[in-house]
Amino acid sequence: MSTRCESCGMPMSKDPQGGGSNVDGTKNKLYCSFCYENGEFSFQGNVRDFQEFCRKMMKESGMNGFTAWLFSRGMKRLPRWKNQ
Ligand SMILES: [Zn+2]
Repeated sequence: MSTRCESCGMPMSKDPQGGGSNVDGTKNKLYCSFCYENGEFSFQGNVRDFQEFCRKMMKESGMNGFTAWLFSRGMKRLPRWKNQ
């Protein structure tokens, strides 16, 4: 079990659902509930698009642009994106 989502890097402790959900309804502990739902990634695409998408979401939720950028910068090193 990881302490951070392996797709977006969000600490799992910040996830209100405590993790994503698998097809059978069990919890998925690798990915957070924003990234992974019912056995599927909610965002399909490459890491660049995903970074864009997350930056937008973070800014909309009130985070400043620089912090959002810093946060999204580390995403390409996460297990989900490593081999892309
Ligand atoms: Zn995530």
